[in-house]
Amino acid sequence: MDVFHDQLERLKKTGLYRTLRDVKGPQSATMVIDGRNVLQFSSNDYLGLANHPHLKAAAQEAIENFGSGSGASRLVSGNLELNDKLEKKIADLKGQESGLLFSTGYMANLGIIHAIVGEGDAIFSDQLNHASIVDACRMSKADTKVYPHKDMEALEEVLRQSGRYKQKLLVTDGVFSMDGDIAPLPDLVNLADRHGCMLMVDDAHATGVLGTNGGGTGEHFGLEDKIDISMGTFGKALGGFGAFAAGDHTLCLFLINRARSLMFTTGLPPAVIASALAALEVLEAEPALREKLRANTRFFRQGIEKLPFTTIKSETPIVPLLIGDADLTMRMGEMLFEKGFFMHGIRPPAVPLGSSRLRITIMATHTEEQLEDALNALGEVGKQLGLI
Ligand code: PMP
Repeated sequence: MDVFHDQLERLKKTGLYRTLRDVKGPQSATMVIDGRNVLQFSSNDYLGLANHPHLKAAAQEAIENFGSGSGASRLVSGNLELNDKLEKKIADLKGQESGLLFSTGYMANLGIIHAIVGEGDAIFSDQLNHASIVDACRMSKADTKVYPHKDMEALEEVLRQSGRYKQKLLVTDGVFSMDGDIAPLPDLVNLADRHGCMLMVDDAHATGVLGTNGGGTGEHFGLEDKIDISMGTFGKALGGFGAFAAGDHTLCLFLINRARSLMFTTGLPPAVIASALAALEVLEAEPALREKLRANTRFFRQGIEKLPFTTIKSETPIVPLLIGDADLTMRMGEMLFEKGFFMHGIRPPAVPLGSSRLRITIMATHTEEQLEDALNALGEVGKQLGLI
């Protein structure tokens, strides 16, 4: 195993070595991590649903009624009725005809993209799309054209030269996971339409967050019906686990027959599906949570803009503090941790080389006082490190 040991040593020298932290108790705005009480600023549980009583009760009831496991792939004997109920609700949220569940967002992207494009086809993919999209493109054997982040002129240029392909897929994150900015959906819709592309949006970070009803990027722009394939996850704002595709009925039937990450894997456990159903109920019943998330995000963004850090402007609860150097980013994260704030450092390969950052995420369950404390701590640590 010397070869692995050497590689790990190299990662340590370049500030790219990763370890796992010990977490006690449920996800919450206040948590115990590595034995320390900290304020959580690194979770995708934007609405604070991961420990919501309605979701927990639904999961417990499902275990009582249906047991712990689904027993097999949905195509064999693992298709509990709960799946269909959740798919119907997800289709409604996304303004689509049908929904289809996947085990994770990673598997959804692999399964969908691999199923719908292959040799002789082309994929047009934003440079900052999630790693699961990158891996799906590689797996698909389609020609992948990566365009510079949100650069619509560059995308149009490459689309103009791509008339020879059979199928064309334009794929984008709705909210970019590490930058927190929103995809220019109106332009993407227009380009997809003019160049005969299917349009797929990965709304992992937008579902439950953007749009009046939490429907995501499509609802935010009023363009839900222009998205051919809407993908999203239950593991972030919806506080659970699992993922979905939403689109027209034929697309979903096709994916049931062709998406290998759905066909050859065990169906989601009943408790997971029930918790997702409950999360969608909370989304409807408690719009105040979404409003609080937006108010908190506005408050924090206004505060951080008063400090001379480099951030990326957007309306989402993902606030990246760009540092650049991986070692320095991790040092800053550690100093904040010592002060009781968990703001995780993000380094390559999750982000491009030289763009390491603290990825700060805001939750609906943060209080204004907690947000203010975090801003003060960032100011102090930024000064100590000579960053501001
Ligand atoms: N897409 C995006 C944009 C993501 O950020 C993530 C999770 N980090 C995924 C897909 C994968 O989702 P999951 O965690 O459910 O596998």
